[in-house]
Amino acid sequence: MSGGELVLSLDFELLWGMRDHATRAGYGANILGGREAIPAMLERFERHGVQATWATVGALFCESREELMEALPPEELRPRYARAALSNYRYLDEVGADESSDPHYFGASLIARIAGCPGQEIATHTMSHFYCLEEGASPESFAADLDAACRVAAARGITLRSIVFPRNQYGPAHLEIIRHRGIRRYRGNPAAWAYRPAAGAGQTLPRRLMRLVDAHTGVLGPHLYRPGGDNVPASHFLRPRAGRLAALHGRHLSVLERAMTRAARTGAGVHLWWHPHNFGADLAANLAGLDRILSHFARLRDEYGMVSRTMAGSGQPHLPATEKAARP
Ligand SMILES: [Zn+2]
Repeated sequence: MSGGELVLSLDFELLWGMRDHATRAGYGANILGGREAIPAMLERFERHGVQATWATVGALFCESREELMEALPPEELRPRYARAALSNYRYLDEVGADESSDPHYFGASLIARIAGCPGQEIATHTMSHFYCLEEGASPESFAADLDAACRVAAARGITLRSIVFPRNQYGPAHLEIIRHRGIRRYRGNPAAWAYRPAAGAGQTLPRRLMRLVDAHTGVLGPHLYRPGGDNVPASHFLRPRAGRLAALHGRHLSVLERAMTRAARTGAGVHLWWHPHNFGADLAANLAGLDRILSHFARLRDEYGMVSRTMAGSGQPHLPATEKAARP
């Protein structure tokens, strides 16, 4: 018996996280599929007694276009990215009136559902899907963006304790800013070179290829961490089963399972992450993949006492009696 912990985090962003390179017409169906995936994931998490962190774009909390416009930082504090297409402020004109008329940009009903499911943490993915390391993004504009995210969450009684930086871009100044707002936990990158944070331009082809190889072979290692630190680094992205790599999906899941087993045997942490919209195009196959991961976790819990934790709860001690009682 050793233990270890499993952390799951989801970047919940709808179209806000994709708009710089995808459109409503081109990717909208995946976004809607992602909305359907969320209740299906929650049902599974609850059934397995699994916790998860939902790093949510602040704009999704807003009930209406009016509320959104009011909640966004003032003009002078908005980011002025050198690559203008990155700015979600450019796309505000296409945002509809509310969630029922524009499910690609609003998500309050889903946030309420997540918050109502046991063991789930609502965290932040910034207000506007902010890119910290892009040219033209100042620490001041990041702070204003984060303040807006804290306010829309607080209005729903939610205190933000963890953050996932969009595209995993951050530096020391950003870590200082989150700490001042009581956000202690963040999802860092795996230490291997291919995963180091960089602006979009630094995500070169060799780095992306290496990550692809690693996802299907585990050649760069299990990417485990010691639970309890402010950085709860990502171990592996749970890749969607899609396209030409679909045939290799089983192999990818095996890499994740091996990392989980290693964490359980050594008392380390393992952190898997993905986006709900990754499940959007082929929901059944991707839910089957998630079922495999969750069943593997259940085995490791029984055999080694592995626990499930949110990012905010990483490192919390094992409480076997209560946890057993809470499980059906
Ligand atoms: Zn994102």
